[in-house]
Amino acid sequence: MISPFQNNNNFRKFESLYIWKLLTENRGNSLPWYLAVSLNHMPAKYLICRSIPCKFPNLTNVNEQDLWEELTNLTEDFLEKWKLIKSGNTDLKPEIIHQRKTSLLDLNVELVKRMLTHCNFCRWNCRIDRSLDQKENLEKKISNSRLKKKKVGTCQLESTSRVGSYFHHRGEEIIFRGTNGSGTIFFTSCNMRCSFCQNGDISTDKENGIPITPYNLALMVWQLRMEGCHNINWVGGDPTIHLHTITQAINILDSFEITWINSTNIKKNINYIESIKSDKYFNDSFSQNTANAFYKNSMFNSPQIWNSNFFMSTETTNILRTIMDAWLPDLKFGPGKCALELSRTPWYWETVTTNLKHIHEWGEDFIVRHLIMPNHLECCTKPILDWIAKNMPDIQLNIMDQYHPDNLCDPLSPHFKESYKEISRSPTENELKTAYRYANDLNLNFKPLSYEKMCFP
Ligand code: SF4
Repeated sequence: MISPFQNNNNFRKFESLYIWKLLTENRGNSLPWYLAVSLNHMPAKYLICRSIPCKFPNLTNVNEQDLWEELTNLTEDFLEKWKLIKSGNTDLKPEIIHQRKTSLLDLNVELVKRMLTHCNFCRWNCRIDRSLDQKENLEKKISNSRLKKKKVGTCQLESTSRVGSYFHHRGEEIIFRGTNGSGTIFFTSCNMRCSFCQNGDISTDKENGIPITPYNLALMVWQLRMEGCHNINWVGGDPTIHLHTITQAINILDSFEITWINSTNIKKNINYIESIKSDKYFNDSFSQNTANAFYKNSMFNSPQIWNSNFFMSTETTNILRTIMDAWLPDLKFGPGKCALELSRTPWYWETVTTNLKHIHEWGEDFIVRHLIMPNHLECCTKPILDWIAKNMPDIQLNIMDQYHPDNLCDPLSPHFKESYKEISRSPTENELKTAYRYANDLNLNFKPLSYEKMCFP
C-alpha cells in the first residue's frame, strides 16, 4: 500500500519543476538541502538541533558567557550530525525529538532572550533592554500605574512582535514559490530606513498588523505547511528584529499535535491569526492534509528560510546557523555612501558582506538578490557583481529588474522627497541590459533565477 506521504502530488509537481534541472546543470549550488527538506526527504535543521543535548539542564541559571561557549561546542556536534544525516549514515529518532530534554534549540532560544535584554540582534548594537515592556506590563498590572516612555532602538521595537500578513506567496523565485507558494510571514518595522522601500506600509509602520505570541506564530507556520507551502519564509521589514519571537515559535513546533486542530482553544487562536491571512482558499484542507508536513510521519517538518537585509550581528548569524535551512539575503548597495544616503544605514557593506562570507564558507544553501536601481550601476550594481565574482562565483544570483519608485521616492506621493529624485523612476532598458551584460561577462550564475519569470510565469 502506498502511504499518503509517498503519494503526494504537491511534492511530485514541485520536484519535477524544470528549474531544478537548470540549476543542477548550471555551475554552483543548486540548494539540495533545502529541496530535500521541502520534500520531507530530510529533517529540517531545527529538528536536528532539537536532538543535540545541552549540558545545562536549567539554562536560566547559567551566565551568558558560558552559554555562548556551549553554543560553540554544540554547533560542532550539530555539524557532525548534520553531515551524517545528509550522507544517510544516521537518522533522527522521534523519541529523542519528543523527549523535551534541554537541547541546542533551547540553548539558542535562551541566548536570544539574553540578547534581547541588551539588544544586539543587528549591527546597530543598540544595547537597550527590549525585554522591559514585558516586565513593565507586569508591574503595571500590579501597580496599575501609567507606563513611562521607554528608550527604543533604531527599529523602534520593544519585545512585542507584530505580523502584518501571512500567506502563500506566489511572487518569490520559483524554487521558493514552487507550485503551492512560499509560506511567507511578514513582520512589521525594520532596522534599515530605505527611502525606496517596496514594503513601506509594514516596514515604516510598527503598529501595522496584529501582536503575535510565539504560540500563534508557530500556529501560522503549522497552518501554512499543512496547506502545502514548500517552506516557511521569514521576512519583513526584516525578521532579525523579531529574532526572539521567531526562535521561540520554532522551539515549540515539534510539540504540536494534529489532534489539537479541532479543539476549541486552537480554533480561537486560528480565528485570531486568520484576520491577517491574505489567502483563504486553502483553508478547507488544513484539518486533513498532514502529507505535506511531516518527516517520517511523526515529526513536523518544514524548511526555514531567512529572507533578510542581512544587516544582522555575528551573534545572530551564529544562532541562525543551526536553525535556517536556506537563506535569501539582499545585497542592495556597493561599498560607497549609497547605504547611508538612501537608507540612513552606516556599516552596511562590511556587515552584509561579512555575513555573506560566513554562510558561504559554511556551505549553506542560499541565493543572493540584487535589485537594479536607476543611476546606481557604477556605484552599486557593478561593484556588487565584481565582489561576488571574486568571493563567491559559484552562488546562485537573482538580479532583479522590478524596481519602481515607492515610499519617499515616489513623485506622486505626498511623502516624496526631492533629495531622492535620482531614484524616482524605474531603471531604463539600457540600465537593465548593461547590468545583465556585466554579470554575463563575469560568468556569474544569474540566468536561471533572474530570467525564470519569462519562462515560468
Ligand atoms: S534589533 Fe537592531 S535596531 Fe533593533 S534594538 Fe536591536 S540592535 Fe537596535
